[in-house]
Amino acid sequence: MTPVETFSGKTVALFGLGGSGMATAEALRAGGCTPIVWDDGAVAVEKARAAGFAAEDLRSIDWSKVSALILSPGVPLTHPKPHWSVDLAKAAGVEVIGDVELFCRERKARAPHAPFIAITGTNGKSTTTALIAHILKSAGHDVQLGGNIGTPILKLEVPAGSFPEKVASGFSKEGMSEEKLRYHVIELSSYQIDLSPSLSPSIGILLNLSPDHIDRHGTMEHYASVKERLIAASDTVVIGVDDTFCEAIALRRSHAGGAMVSVSIKAERPGAIHAVGREIFACGSHRRKLADLEGIGSLRGDHNAQNAAVAVAVALRCGLNEAQIQAGLNSFPGLAHRMEEIGRVGRALVVNDSKATNADSTEKALTSFPEGIFWIAGGKPKEGGIGALAPHFGRIEKAYLIGEAAPAFAKTLEGKVPYTLSGTLEVALSQAAGDAANAKSSAPVILLSPSCASFDQFPNFEVRGDTFRALAKALPGFVAR
Ligand code: ADP
Repeated sequence: MTPVETFSGKTVALFGLGGSGMATAEALRAGGCTPIVWDDGAVAVEKARAAGFAAEDLRSIDWSKVSALILSPGVPLTHPKPHWSVDLAKAAGVEVIGDVELFCRERKARAPHAPFIAITGTNGKSTTTALIAHILKSAGHDVQLGGNIGTPILKLEVPAGSFPEKVASGFSKEGMSEEKLRYHVIELSSYQIDLSPSLSPSIGILLNLSPDHIDRHGTMEHYASVKERLIAASDTVVIGVDDTFCEAIALRRSHAGGAMVSVSIKAERPGAIHAVGREIFACGSHRRKLADLEGIGSLRGDHNAQNAAVAVAVALRCGLNEAQIQAGLNSFPGLAHRMEEIGRVGRALVVNDSKATNADSTEKALTSFPEGIFWIAGGKPKEGGIGALAPHFGRIEKAYLIGEAAPAFAKTLEGKVPYTLSGTLEVALSQAAGDAANAKSSAPVILLSPSCASFDQFPNFEVRGDTFRALAKALPGFVAR
């Protein structure tokens, strides 16, 4: 845990008692601060009371005694409209911040140059965060992984050590200090950035930007500007420059000055890191190969080439050599429910991509395999359907449709892809396994990539993926990965 000592002896209000809210309350108490906590849910409030916290309706407290409102990132700060607790804080002239801001202040007070790697973007945050952490860990570093993925930031160990200012332009270990470094590798959502005015990581990463969460940010421009704050505040920046928003942000950063590495999977740029197919290069007067993703099942697809190229850029900046980076990439286990290779039934590879809840994500999965896909899809339909996947229908041998979306998906596939209305995941998997045993393809794949939310048949995508994994493991002849 990182005790929050920067508010020692003070009183703060805290709204939102989910996992990160409770962790924040604990960290504040451990640092000698008195949090007054509240939530709209009575169960959460009771749980906090049982843990010994002062729980009071923030509508009836004396705000003149409050030093800050700590808001959970899930609670609206600005859009569609500020939460009532935000209005109360603002009316009382009290600052509104989040747990990442508390961490930043602790870092500033304890070890202002401790290595702090912050990752954001619209897609690929969790994969890239986990990959960077894995590469650093496999090279022997002390790594704390968390934020928007897994462990709340204040549950992690305190920041320590001093990240060297210059690691010989990021390509050698020369200049690394002997001091023990503790790397915080932190995934950040736009909501968390919005609540962290003094964010200033050692390395800030922006992977990509496309319209998302516009309901919470008002406009795409506002959403992009929140993400840009991370870039403006970072000592070193690693930025994917394959979309127009990120390209504009990179240009502004280069005008403003400061270290920056651009990453592209589309075009070569001098000084950038570039992925061509499965290979990652440094582009200069000549190409220098840095890493190879061939045969790494957890990093299939162009989207993962972007994630991996970014991770390579970060690892170089941290002083790792190419052999260490390649070893880390090779042993990356991947994340559950994102193109997760579960094992094989006969010749067929079984892949769990339950996190793919829209056509955009499923497109990434379909384009990761050239052919021979036995595709399980459906669930609670999302706007837009699967029409956009038509260019990739040739890769699919047969589709197995489940849930509420099945009739609509069948209509889109009619005359283009053979399909069956399987109804449930269990039936779909057993039918797909039977058909894949007689596949024409030499490398058949049974792929769950639903292009739908899960709520019609499962509580969430994790349960859907876990169910799929358990069912696959029970198939006759299943061999784990
Ligand atoms: P996030 O944490 O940003 O939601 P994840 O790493 O969990 O991202 O990946 C979620 C899904 O997003 C993946 O299953 C894949 O379909 C897609 N994805 C992952 N990386 C990228 C990327 N770099 N560009 C576009 N889409 C991606």
